[in-house]
Amino acid sequence: MNLQDKSCIITGAARGIGATIAKRYVKSGAKVAIADLRLSDAEQTAAGLTAMGPGSAMGVEMNVTDEAAVNAGVAKVIDAWGSVDVLVSNAGIQIVHELQDFPFDDWKKLLSIHLDGAFLTSKACLPHMYGQGSGAIIFMGSVHSKEASPLKSAYVTAKHGLLGLARVISKEGAKHGVRANVICPGFVRTPLVDKQIPEQAAELGISEDEVIKRVMLGGTVDGEFTTVEDVAEVAHVFAAFPSNALTGQSLVVSHGWFME
Ligand code: NAD
Repeated sequence: MNLQDKSCIITGAARGIGATIAKRYVKSGAKVAIADLRLSDAEQTAAGLTAMGPGSAMGVEMNVTDEAAVNAGVAKVIDAWGSVDVLVSNAGIQIVHELQDFPFDDWKKLLSIHLDGAFLTSKACLPHMYGQGSGAIIFMGSVHSKEASPLKSAYVTAKHGLLGLARVISKEGAKHGVRANVICPGFVRTPLVDKQIPEQAAELGISEDEVIKRVMLGGTVDGEFTTVEDVAEVAHVFAAFPSNALTGQSLVVSHGWFME
């Protein structure tokens, strides 16, 4: 299975999990659009990947909550490469508060990046995928698509919602050869998680070490963080799978934190 010459868009790919998925896809021969908020960051990541090869990458400025920006970013990819074969809707943020203290603006901001982002990018890519009779859409869920944790009402709600959206796309897309799946990682050491460690320690009144050992990794089978490479490998399988049998699914990669 490889992604030779496939045209891929990955949102939030300037750094973190998205950047490592992009690296895995370029290693597999794909052309990858690094879609992120700041063009300079996206272009810097893209340049490093193109230098690595054998595929290539380009930076695309995109705020996934802005319909015009999403449509313009997808149009840029179509202009450059003529198609879009794979969409990875990965851009996301985390905001932690107990529900009674959760600012409504933060709730709306988080839901918008995760859910509006998945909706708008899918809506912009689907006509191109339907036109060519094939495509793969991948949403970045989380163990929090299946499990709840205190302080994370907005994130858990958004990540559960992505399962529903992927299932609808898999049903609507089937007759056009388009599949949709969700990756559900456990804790991965990226800036998103590093930011949460002191925040959760303060909210829960425990040490940062306890946040890592008890809150983040306490439920795993081996006390290990999932890595960006682990997640990228699953994203490669979902993108490169050779038939449309694999659709409407969600796969948990979490060192056994959540089992089903
Ligand atoms: P990160 O903070 O390292 O990277 C997120 C990227 O998204 C950044 O490049 C940022 O600029 C971009 N982004 C943020 N808002 C955006 C917007 N409105 N439009 C476009 N780009 C935007 O985070 P990460 O840990 O790599 O997380 C990536 C995804 O993986 C998120 O959806 C997150 O919820 C999910 N996830 C992360 C973990 C984890 O433990 N790190 C676990 C499960 C799921």
